[in-house]
Amino acid sequence: MAFDYDLFVIGAGSGGVRAARMAAPTGARVAVAEERYLGGTCVNVGCIPKKLFVYASHYAEDFEEAAGFGWSVGPRQFDWKTLIANKNTEIERLNGIYANLLDNAGVERIEGTAKITGPQSVSIGGREITCENLLVAPGAWPSMPDTPGIEHAISSNEAFHLDELPGRVVVVGGGYIAVEFAGIFHGLGAEVTQLYRGELFLRGFDDDCRTTLAEEMRKKQIDLRFETDVTKIELGAGGIRVLTLTTGDTIECDVVMYATGRVPKTDGLGLEAAGVKTGRKGEILVDEYSRTNVPSVWAIGDVTDRLQLTPMAIAEAMAFVQTLYHDNPTAPNHANVPTAVFSQPNIGTVGVTEAEAREQYGDIVVYREKFRALKHTLTGSDEKTMMKLIVDRASDKVVGCHMVGPDAGEITQGLGIAIQCGATKAQFDATVGIHPTSAEEFVTMRTPVAE
Ligand code: NDP
Repeated sequence: MAFDYDLFVIGAGSGGVRAARMAAPTGARVAVAEERYLGGTCVNVGCIPKKLFVYASHYAEDFEEAAGFGWSVGPRQFDWKTLIANKNTEIERLNGIYANLLDNAGVERIEGTAKITGPQSVSIGGREITCENLLVAPGAWPSMPDTPGIEHAISSNEAFHLDELPGRVVVVGGGYIAVEFAGIFHGLGAEVTQLYRGELFLRGFDDDCRTTLAEEMRKKQIDLRFETDVTKIELGAGGIRVLTLTTGDTIECDVVMYATGRVPKTDGLGLEAAGVKTGRKGEILVDEYSRTNVPSVWAIGDVTDRLQLTPMAIAEAMAFVQTLYHDNPTAPNHANVPTAVFSQPNIGTVGVTEAEAREQYGDIVVYREKFRALKHTLTGSDEKTMMKLIVDRASDKVVGCHMVGPDAGEITQGLGIAIQCGATKAQFDATVGIHPTSAEEFVTMRTPVAE
């Protein structure tokens, strides 16, 4: 049977674009459909604008701290509209780059919402298209609980486009996005309250990272309230949001932002028409090669809910192209993926947490340091940096590295290579430190934490 395309990709986000532009040079006839924006969540309402906001918000502290080094900084004023306009310009530039990458690779771009109509067919804009293989990569979408008055809340999607910087913000949730935005709004000058339903936020991260970050955020006067959720949101005079909490308290704010997870974006996708199986959260179920239960249908990225991270979507895309177009079946590696939370200060982490290590390895050795970074000897800031190594005693392998502190994301990237290579503590110790840095602590920690 002659197909219109060899590969039809749904979604021009991080995973879809990479797969399309790597598949096309092999001679495959490839099209990619996108209904919203080129580059997906990461470029438009995720990693990139978020990191720009983090930079913007950190200047507040930088100006304060400069005084200890002899600088007097004049009156400070922050203009939200300038930040948003400059951010939008940069994103438009990136959208253009994504378009060029696809065009130059010979991928056909189709604007619109694609609906799967069968194992090898989609419809888009009234057109019925056939394809030998279908790659589903539509990403994920913010999910919010059905709390009464939830329509008065925003998600991170809207936070990137607010007309004004709100004076008082309540952030609900205790994951990556919630802590990142709590730091952003606080740094830019808003009064921030963060509510988390559990005992301590960032469930799944190493406990020392969680407690250290909570301490540091509280030092900045971010009002962290754990074991607290919202029972209802009401609209008060002048658009003020009035939140009633499970504790019985009420809080007023200008913006309430929910960051309570992201769900696979499969609504209306037509997966049932092809017979593609999904899991409990609506995620597309795939095998180790990202193939669904239907041989011609593949899925990568957030829609598969393996690890909702841009670099993982890209790794899955590269493996998919190897498997399908290079006769080289390749399974993306989801183990030891380094990751950072761009909270203030950052968290960087790779490998297992202490609790996971105890369960997996039994006998472990833990090294931990908490110290004031050199810079802060003059700034007067009491911010602490926390670094931690977890070692499997039997093999001497370092199985977990965790850090809370400035540039933890940058530092952890290098450690990710060491962990991927199976480095031992002896090899960490044999590595010469770079002095004076915080990172050198990772190769100079010699005294284990007492059991
Ligand atoms: P997360 O899954 O990380 O966190 C969701 C948070 O919301 C958790 O604290 C969860 O609590 C809480 N929550 C869930 N449902 C409810 C509810 N009904 N009521 C109250 N609280 C609730 O999701 P995010 O939205 O923060 O981020 C989505 C994903 O995006 C992340 O998992 C991450 O993979 C990715 N991401 C990565 C970034 C990075 O690499 N720096 C940055 C931003 C996002 P509980 O713990 O109790 O379940």
